[in-house]
Amino acid sequence: MNNIIKCAFLGCLLIPSTSVFAAPCLNITLTGTQGGPPVFNGQAGSGTLVQFGDDENNCSAVNLQFDTGRGTTQRLSQAKTPVGKLNAIFLTHMHSDHTEGLADMMQLRWHFGSAGPKVDLVCSGDTQSPKGYVLSCEKFAQHIGDPLIKSGEMAQRLAENNKRLPGGPAELINVNAFKPSETPAEVWKSGDVVVSAVGSRHIPGHVSYRVDTPAGSVVIGGDAGNDAPKPPRKTSTSAQVEALSMGADVIVHSTIHPVMGPDKDSGFPPPIYFRQSTATDLGSMAQRAGAKHLMLTHLIPPLGAKRQGPYPIPGGGLTEADYESAVVDGGFEGGVIVGRDLSSLRLPQ
Ligand SMILES: [Zn+2]
Repeated sequence: MNNIIKCAFLGCLLIPSTSVFAAPCLNITLTGTQGGPPVFNGQAGSGTLVQFGDDENNCSAVNLQFDTGRGTTQRLSQAKTPVGKLNAIFLTHMHSDHTEGLADMMQLRWHFGSAGPKVDLVCSGDTQSPKGYVLSCEKFAQHIGDPLIKSGEMAQRLAENNKRLPGGPAELINVNAFKPSETPAEVWKSGDVVVSAVGSRHIPGHVSYRVDTPAGSVVIGGDAGNDAPKPPRKTSTSAQVEALSMGADVIVHSTIHPVMGPDKDSGFPPPIYFRQSTATDLGSMAQRAGAKHLMLTHLIPPLGAKRQGPYPIPGGGLTEADYESAVVDGGFEGGVIVGRDLSSLRLPQ
């Protein structure tokens, strides 16, 4: 901290500069932009890092990770935010492409941060599907270290260093499971940073989040889509996410390009197309919500890819301009970021 000496006719005062000049800031970084379980060109799986702080700590007093796809650990290290510095991790839903990086992240924390602190894992409580299965974030957390416990690897590590937690990385997770509500409700708070959530449609237990800070606000839509699983309907976007986004500065949202639609020629399964929000409809939604920026992530298809998994892209690989023009077609007049791994946005700009 640089202290400042102010002098006036009554004498001199030593003023800590953080309390006088440090301006609050919010930093949003996409830690992974791959859409769905396929791999393409080394892209990491879904995730967004949201950081709040001030000029003097480079917006890193509070570090929140939303979703933890494959490769999140590596992207966080590139974003100069080691896994051990995360205060809380939030999951939008239990699909593996949004969660599979967590085991790696927690194992790293177990190796070098067993003394704590624990990390909050904020997610939906157990959700029963009408088809009979149950999606459970709590069980996922409880069993996060199981393969390495069962293989004996953890016992071997503990024999070398008994300062690590004997129960493995699950002991470092503090699960904050909540029952998603239909209207936004607060689910986590630290100082001036408030996170709220709303239940939204994709798979059972899917939720979307909003972070409010003195430097601005950001919505993490996840893979949300419309309540009606297919047309006829006004839009592919989520009414719940739209309500959550009202007046937000930034919306980060998974998207699918209209080129994958059943009216084109990709052969992409219509039910999967219809359960995502199209880039065009997200442009309309962001405009209605009054957002200043829209960050597209979880791009289906990835930029430049000739195929999405086994499905060919009609007309060949898409460019950033193809996604931007789809958003502008929806009427959005704000800033568009077509996400790549480590794309970031800082507020205030
Ligand atoms: Zn999903």
